[in-house]
Amino acid sequence: MTANDVMKQAKPRFDENQLLELQDAINLATAAHTGQKRRSGEDYIIHPLSVAAILIEWDMDIDSVLAGVLHDTVEDTSLSLERIEAVFGRDVAFLVDGVTKVGQVRSGMRDLTSYLPATKDNLTKLMIAIGQDIRVIIIKLADRLHNMRTLEHMPPDKQKKIARETMEVFAPLADRLNMGRVRVQLEELSFRFLMPKDYARTRSLMDSRLKKSQKKLDKVRSEVVKKLDEEKIEFDMDGRVKSVYSLFKKLDRVGGDIERIHDLIALRIIVADLDTCYLVLNVLHEMYTPQFERIKDYVSRPKLNGYQSLHTTVQTTNGQIVEFQIRTQEMHEYAERGFAASFHYNETKLTDAYKKGTLAALPADLSWIRELQEAAARASEGKSYDTKKLRMDLFRDRIFIYSPKGDIYDFPVGAYPLDYAYRIHSEVAEHASGFKVNGVMKPFDYQLQHGDRVEVLTSKSAHPKASWRDLVVTQHAREKLRMQLSRSGGVLGSITNAAGQIGRRLRKR
Ligand code: MN
Repeated sequence: MTANDVMKQAKPRFDENQLLELQDAINLATAAHTGQKRRSGEDYIIHPLSVAAILIEWDMDIDSVLAGVLHDTVEDTSLSLERIEAVFGRDVAFLVDGVTKVGQVRSGMRDLTSYLPATKDNLTKLMIAIGQDIRVIIIKLADRLHNMRTLEHMPPDKQKKIARETMEVFAPLADRLNMGRVRVQLEELSFRFLMPKDYARTRSLMDSRLKKSQKKLDKVRSEVVKKLDEEKIEFDMDGRVKSVYSLFKKLDRVGGDIERIHDLIALRIIVADLDTCYLVLNVLHEMYTPQFERIKDYVSRPKLNGYQSLHTTVQTTNGQIVEFQIRTQEMHEYAERGFAASFHYNETKLTDAYKKGTLAALPADLSWIRELQEAAARASEGKSYDTKKLRMDLFRDRIFIYSPKGDIYDFPVGAYPLDYAYRIHSEVAEHASGFKVNGVMKPFDYQLQHGDRVEVLTSKSAHPKASWRDLVVTQHAREKLRMQLSRSGGVLGSITNAAGQIGRRLRKR
């Protein structure tokens, strides 16, 4: 990635003045980062240029692209925020500042309290920092995406740490913005680094299964094309293959049996308008037998993040089960690019809209962003707000727990300290003798609360007990505990263990 590549990519999207500004930003950043190298040995400037290129690809506005070029200068070079504001204006300076602060909150280097007096925990601070202008999150996501793409150059322990944070914080953020394509990219990359063996195994399972079903699917596809042509319906059709990570998660739910997964490939039909979506649905249901329990109408009831589409699963004449997704071009665009797409359709600057208090550019379903911004406004005026409610909207059903060093881990609601201990290291959990939560001793059956800082106390004489089975809720902790119990308990351990498994299976139903 060179300055020329970025300029070439920007040319069709921006006017002459904007292109001049972009060239200026690139020159300034290149000078500022001179002599700095990335871990790969390449010049550092490759990174901000790549981030800018990603933002252009996402069709972001010029201010975001400029901020992308400059995003690491304030933190890592002698370039000052004042200088950036003088050259590129307040909005660009605001974005660069926002991205810098998010980075600092994340690494726990500086306390944002000085900027935002009413805030309490790190995650809330992070949300407030990004909530003031949603473009800050989008720049951050581009930054993270490029860092993930070049993660192989990092030492292994860092790879895992960064990949985990990406999986736990950045992929959900992309999801909340309905940036489906970005979420999938982030998850796939994280999964590969976090669980390389599972990734390889799932991938090859998927490849062999795809090879098998391709022919049958081609037949279905040509039948549908023929029928829709007869009905004089204009459409585009493509196949979307499930991501390796989502296949892995789903396999877990169906006991590892890939035959039970019916949406490995879905056929996607894109049409001009909403009426045609329902028309196509009817046509499909006349051709094939609909599996009625599998019709999902995300058009009349969009997902929380604004995703819209009709999903139906049918059984074809030769017994094959196929999922179809039907949507308009606009819904498709939004499903892939989410919030970033609204910059393409609607040039309203969010900072302006925010200041005026009219967030007309936001799809109604993204009300959490509105709430986040209202909270940010209250916080900057020193007023209080309900952080619990905010967090509920952004990370539904998840709580975030901090290590004594400030690393973030996410857990389902209802998790116990032992879940945390097993996540840190199974050997730590094995010798857990007690827990300090926010500096205070807590029992094993204490339920973790969002924002808790947890320290595991260990002792050589402590060992896993069968009763711990009721004190963990995560799959990971259950598995590690089962292994430890069977190792220490011998035959007796494995019997009670098998009983435990049956019990779990029953409970699941
Ligand atoms: Mn960066």
